[in-house]
Amino acid sequence: MIIDSHIHVGKWSSIFYNYESTVEDAVKVMRSSGVDAAVCMPTDLTGNRYLMDKTINNKNFKFYYNAWINPEDKDLDKFLEDDIDRVSLFKVHPSIQRKRITDESYDKYMKIAAENKKPVVVHCGRWQEIASYKFPLELAEKYPDLILILAHLGGDQPSLYLECAETIKNGKYKNVYLGTESVREFYFVNKVVHTVGAEKVIFGSDYNLGLPLTYIPIVESLDIPASDKELIFSGNILRLING
Ligand SMILES: [Zn+2]
Repeated sequence: MIIDSHIHVGKWSSIFYNYESTVEDAVKVMRSSGVDAAVCMPTDLTGNRYLMDKTINNKNFKFYYNAWINPEDKDLDKFLEDDIDRVSLFKVHPSIQRKRITDESYDKYMKIAAENKKPVVVHCGRWQEIASYKFPLELAEKYPDLILILAHLGGDQPSLYLECAETIKNGKYKNVYLGTESVREFYFVNKVVHTVGAEKVIFGSDYNLGLPLTYIPIVESLDIPASDKELIFSGNILRLING
């Protein structure tokens, strides 16, 4: 079974030229890619309530919902109050929000996530002052029960994600995981998986920006047993979502 654990649906701001895609588009792409279920989050201009209603009860495809945590979103607190049970994960995007995940405006949401066992997917990228993997790791030390999935393997560039893998190996961060979305250097992905262990790695495509069929072959190419690939494709995320 394949679960795409990192997809977006909706409309992006000018950072992606107002590009927009629909739930129907996503269902079509997921199905034609052999994906069985997807963890869906909005884009920066699409609301949580709107997208959750359109996805989690979808008759044509199995979606889990990942709530976009923008501390400046006036509807966010009410949304979480009403619907926390229907939300499977939280998403934090430090680069778009221009704040580190350790910023105090995120703090109450990190507490809600830890208390309710909602894994937090955090974008980690090349903007080291804001989106370094080091900030979520700081948070992991502050909240040891908080489950964190570091997107783009912690940095979206071999030099960054290999260093991240070295930092978290040997079970040093019990509740920290790595997402594979949009990482294309298959040789180094294999290194990461051998460094941290398959039970720490979660497959995602970053659709509507990436395509599952671009990234599924990278997991299939890993030099690990089929049972470990199954963990990366679905076992790990299901274990975290079903707590
Ligand atoms: Zn993304």
